[in-house]
Amino acid sequence: MCGIIGAIHTKGNVASLLRQSLKRLEYRGYDSSGIATAANGILHIKKDKGKIDDIHQRLNFDTLPGNIGIGHTRWATHGSPSKANAHPHTDCLNRLAVVHNGIIENYQELRKNLMENGHQLRSETDTEVIPHLIEDALHQTSRLDQAVAQILPQLEGSYAIVVIEAHRNELVAARQESPLIIGLGNQGVYCASDVPAFLPMTRKTIVLEDDELVLLTAQGALLSRFNQSGDLSHLSLRLPTVVQWTIDMAQKGGYPHFMLKEIHEQPKALQDTLRIRKPDLMGFTEILHNHRHIITFAAGTAFHATLAAKYMFSHNANRLIHNIIASEGPDTVAASPGEDSVVLAVSQSGETIDTIHAVKHLKKQGCTVVAITNTVGSSITRLADQVLYTQAGPEIGVAATKTFATQLATLASLSVYLGTMTGALKKKEQKELLEALNQFPNIIQSVIRNQESMIKVAAQEYVTKSDFFFLGRGISTATAMEGALKIKEIAYVHAEGYPAGESKHGAIALVEPGFPVIFVAPNDSTRRHLEGNVMEMKARGARIVAICSAQDKALINLSDQVIPLPQLPSLSFSPICYVVPLQLLAYYAAILRGHNPDQPRNLAKAVTVL
Ligand code: GLU
Repeated sequence: MCGIIGAIHTKGNVASLLRQSLKRLEYRGYDSSGIATAANGILHIKKDKGKIDDIHQRLNFDTLPGNIGIGHTRWATHGSPSKANAHPHTDCLNRLAVVHNGIIENYQELRKNLMENGHQLRSETDTEVIPHLIEDALHQTSRLDQAVAQILPQLEGSYAIVVIEAHRNELVAARQESPLIIGLGNQGVYCASDVPAFLPMTRKTIVLEDDELVLLTAQGALLSRFNQSGDLSHLSLRLPTVVQWTIDMAQKGGYPHFMLKEIHEQPKALQDTLRIRKPDLMGFTEILHNHRHIITFAAGTAFHATLAAKYMFSHNANRLIHNIIASEGPDTVAASPGEDSVVLAVSQSGETIDTIHAVKHLKKQGCTVVAITNTVGSSITRLADQVLYTQAGPEIGVAATKTFATQLATLASLSVYLGTMTGALKKKEQKELLEALNQFPNIIQSVIRNQESMIKVAAQEYVTKSDFFFLGRGISTATAMEGALKIKEIAYVHAEGYPAGESKHGAIALVEPGFPVIFVAPNDSTRRHLEGNVMEMKARGARIVAICSAQDKALINLSDQVIPLPQLPSLSFSPICYVVPLQLLAYYAAILRGHNPDQPRNLAKAVTVL
């Protein structure tokens, strides 16, 4: 997820305006950035690795000449953060510059063809194929909008792009699944990933839809639809919406906090993550398959994802994995693992020092290392023999939400591929499970839509409670532990996430009348036994809250409060869905207690101390 901006300014140079716009988009990505302007038939580009202000100090973006330009703040997906990989990307002749948000899935094939036809590509990004394709298309048409439309059918994946050409006073922008918004001001026209980019210049916005392309000139916007043959059909311009947000509200997409925005972004983050290329998944899975021991290392929320993976791997692939909390790692496995072991490290930031420390230690012992992370170019990617990237985009809220969902989805996909390799799953079962997994983005969307207001009200009932249990069995133990962690982290409420069956071995002593016990209870093979645990708690006066299937009449009758969820197409991935109400509960509990969920006390986003 990057931030992109294009602008034509009618009053003088545009560079400083672009830089300030990028600054307001920095929440979307910040590993590198760049600006290209066009003046007198020449493209001028400054770009580098690092944060905008630091690059500006070194290079001074504001001296770029010209009244037309594009800018980009990057969250790398393909190719590490580096100057060469920073956008804008150009064609062979440095006539065209492109900024892009999204992923071009078939870039390797496109890149190969371009290189065979003599193009020189200078980065590792998927984006760079775009200016080279347009370069070729401009041999067939002199119009930039037509040239862009012609190449779009070749791009598979998601994109919002803005293109400039050195000799023209126009911008061409198009979108497919990535956001792009047009801003119409008195002193210029703009298009950007998000409204804050141009909010100080104009509040008049038009949201570009999928399959739409816009030609922006100082005179205004010409809107068209493109089709799979590369043709453009003209559309009349929709009336602009006047946004009333402040910049702070706009950066949060109108949500009061990043955490809530990120909870709502989960369907899209999952969809993007589930697009991982099959060859990448296969290569990763083969490594897991070829080792006798799979040992996972992770911390905090990522540890809960690995815990869920233990059940997914066992259920779908018939493989036992060992879960280790990263900070405990070096002592837990001091002597044993070696060449027959693969370490599967999971870390959102890729910088979690406990995980890195453990990984380094085990690498020295001869273990192979594979990693799942959300951050291209992070330390863990340099240590790992193979990496899979979750596609959650930057997560600003300290409490992990969408990164947990995407870690679960990645591990779920791996469990299915591994199941096919171990023979635990037949081809048909693999297909069914992958189809089931692909339904989760929509399921989560409906859970958020249908349950959020109910959870908000439910949170009010517990505002005076100082202790909670979150109980589950089997894979739901991982969900329960994550639910307890969330409410501890941001609402500062004491909560225990526990295996429901284990609770009677000690924790139950805490229960007294009115004690809230939240049961994570999908209708899987553990459901029958869970009922006994519900009865045990009920007998001691606990207040029973069930997160369960809307069809589960028996549990609904036993419970004081229910958050009903839809039937799932596969119960082996249930945490992806069942964690969502728990995230929302924690969020609203924090708000009711007057805490800022984005910046909980004593915590940091990436834990880089041992
Ligand atoms: N895929 C592009 C890159 O890695 C754009 C990244 C994004 O939009 O997240 O540079």
